[in-house]
This record gives sequence, structure tokens and C-alpha cells, in this order.
Amino acid sequence: MQEKILVIEDEENIIDLIKLYLSNEGFQVEGVSDGGKALEAFELFKPSLIILDIMLPGVDGWEICREIRKSSPVPIIMLTAKETEVDKVLGLELGADDYITKPFSPRELIARVRAVLRRSQAPIEEKEKLQFQDLTIDLKRREVCRANEVITLTAKEFDLLKFLASSPGVVFSRDRLLEKVWGYEFYGDLRTVDVHIRHLREKLKDDVENPSFIETIWGVGYKFKGK
Ligand code: CA
Repeated sequence: MQEKILVIEDEENIIDLIKLYLSNEGFQVEGVSDGGKALEAFELFKPSLIILDIMLPGVDGWEICREIRKSSPVPIIMLTAKETEVDKVLGLELGADDYITKPFSPRELIARVRAVLRRSQAPIEEKEKLQFQDLTIDLKRREVCRANEVITLTAKEFDLLKFLASSPGVVFSRDRLLEKVWGYEFYGDLRTVDVHIRHLREKLKDDVENPSFIETIWGVGYKFKGK
């Protein structure tokens, strides 16, 4: 099956160039030059990865990245024209996975795309443990320890923690968490998520005001802090 890549870039010649480079490598590439249509294209095309230009007329790349991250952990590579933006890509917690500076060589583009895809598709189950500071999440044994003390979680609390911690830095809405952790068949109240988050925080001794692990993104949802 061909991997689908969506390119959001107002310069048509760059879209053509990326199409040329990546289709030679067996990717199916779709381009959208109007930032305002990016979200629609994303929903329709369902890409495995997005290459997103920062400088777009109207709605810019940052805005699009932020919007996509509200509902999806799809890997995003930002295209930057200036080296000065690189720090911003890496520093801002918008959830971009990597960046490419223009002009780029075909080899660099392909290498970055493959690396990001590989990273994003590494099956979580293969990892045995997730480690964040003094917190260890043992995925095989379903055991959680903080500072070498075992923390007893309910099955759902564990599933929720595992889900969030498996995509650090990605913001998930309550809807999305209900869908992913509780499943489509669960017609729960969104407050179910809040209650579980509260219990998790208590058990992990995570400070709400200054969290080490679970952060509230007001008006959006929750995310697991990467570092
Ligand atoms: Ca541009």
C-alpha cells in the first residue's frame, strides 16, 4: 500500500518538486496551495504524513499545525524558508515532528520523510517500557512506578495514561480520548475523562498547577509532557 503524503504549500513549483521526489520513492502525494483548504484536504485525503509550509498567505502553517493537532497525531514536517524559524519549530509545543529548510535536496527530503514515518509507526506494543523522569510505565506488565514506588491504577486509568504517554506533546481533546481509550461503543460523558485524569494525577502525585506529566490545555483537552 502506498503511503499518502499531503503537501501544504502556496508555491506550486515546490509542490511539484516534492511530488516528483516522493512519487519516485513510491509515495502518493497530494498538494494543496490554499492554506484555507488544508484542513478539508487533510480530512479527505487522510495522509500518513503532512509536509507543511510555515509561510502561507492567509492562514499560516502554525495555525494549521495547531488545528490539526487538536484532533490528530499525524506526523507533520514543517517547511521553513529561514534558519531562524528552526528554533521555533523545535521550541514551540505545536506538535510538529521535524522540519526541512528550503532549499532542500531530494535526498534530505526523502530521508526526513522516511525517518518521521518510521518513528511514528513504531508499534507501541514493541516498546516494553516508557520512562519519563522518575515515572516508569511498564506496558507489558501494566505496571506503573514513580520513584520506585508501585502505583496501583485501574484498568482504564492505565489505558488512559498509556495512550497519553505514548504520544508525548500531542494534545488530545476529551472526545478523542473517549474514542481512543473507551472506544466508539462507549457513550460516556466527557467528564468521565476529567475524572480519570484527576485520579491519575492524584495517584502519580502530579501537581495540577505545575504538572510534570499531564498538562491541561484549556479549551482543548490534555497532553502528556514530552520532557
Ligand atoms: Ca510559502
